[in-house]
Amino acid sequence: MTADVLERAAAGGRITEEEALELYRNAPLHALGKAADTARRAKLPYLADTATYIIERNINYTNVCVTACKFCAFYVPPKSPDGWSRDLEEILRRCGETVELGGTQVMFQGGHHPEYGVEYYERAFSAIKENYPELVIHSLGASEIQHMAKVSGVPIEDAIVRIKTAGLDSLAGAGAELLPARPRTVIAPLKESGERWLEIMEKAHTLGLESTSTMLMGTGETNAERIRHLAMIRDVQDRTGGFRAFIPYTYQPLNNHLKGRTQTTTLEYLRLIAVARLFLHNVNHIQGSWLTTGKEAGQLSLHYGADDLGSVMLEENVVSSAGARHRSNRNELIHLIRTAGRVPAQRSTTYELLAVHEDPADDPVDERVRSHIASTALTLVD
Ligand code: SF4
Repeated sequence: MTADVLERAAAGGRITEEEALELYRNAPLHALGKAADTARRAKLPYLADTATYIIERNINYTNVCVTACKFCAFYVPPKSPDGWSRDLEEILRRCGETVELGGTQVMFQGGHHPEYGVEYYERAFSAIKENYPELVIHSLGASEIQHMAKVSGVPIEDAIVRIKTAGLDSLAGAGAELLPARPRTVIAPLKESGERWLEIMEKAHTLGLESTSTMLMGTGETNAERIRHLAMIRDVQDRTGGFRAFIPYTYQPLNNHLKGRTQTTTLEYLRLIAVARLFLHNVNHIQGSWLTTGKEAGQLSLHYGADDLGSVMLEENVVSSAGARHRSNRNELIHLIRTAGRVPAQRSTTYELLAVHEDPADDPVDERVRSHIASTALTLVD
């Protein structure tokens, strides 16, 4: 049965949730990777021998959060002496650095601050667009939309339309974590349900805001729950086509209330990438992670169905707080992709190729374009 299913999926055919679970559990590893690679090449002929990356900056605007997810090492509760918020001037300064370093995208990422309603995001996004119109704002997810709508006392649709009008270009799909009810309730009991997360994303797609989708692996979920998460995304994608990409990443065990509970191995991660490529036949891009899984796992993911290796991450503070210690720079990311057997290419948020690095002699040389945990990319260059 497995060989038939692999053959059908590699040819772009639709497989069932049960078949996906069977592949995830039992398909021979190399056969699974080969089928996913075949599906990737057929789905994205313009990227057959290419793998992409993007230069972006996460802007962490506040660590104050009322949602208290158990896997999160970044947030503090309201009134904590360790709480902070970045003012607009600082946010704009970081956007300016991003532009100066050749970044094309910013990702707003932060806590559910009890006072931040729609107005806060409208102000921030319109100021960014006014000062840096060339920057794409690819940020937030259903959880933030639900929270800001509640704080402002407006319907979800109004919140979506208002932040889009203010300058939000697309949603990053944060907060998906695990969509099935059992594992979601265990790790994020105060977050909206998985069904609600999808409902809000569907509304956003319908209102013209496309998004990516994410998944947090390794907090104690079962294999069947991992595949259910994929199935829930595929169902919405059947109706909207609004998910540009699927991005699984792995739980980091430090400084949070789950206290080191982790079960994702590199092979589990690679199998998930491959099954996602085969099962999510209606999603174009599958992103491999180097930040949480390590650089070699990231390279391998390119042979298991991933077409993209994410971003240089000029700033990252969230998963770093939970223990992710991998750092990279543009040259290394290019090197990782090239030595994995693909032509590296810088992409835009919407996956157009901005620069194809065919010849190592022509590689960009700005060593400032590197990832940082801290918040001032330009001054931390050593
Ligand atoms: S993951 Fe997000 S919503 Fe959950 S506690 Fe952390 S900052 Fe808050």
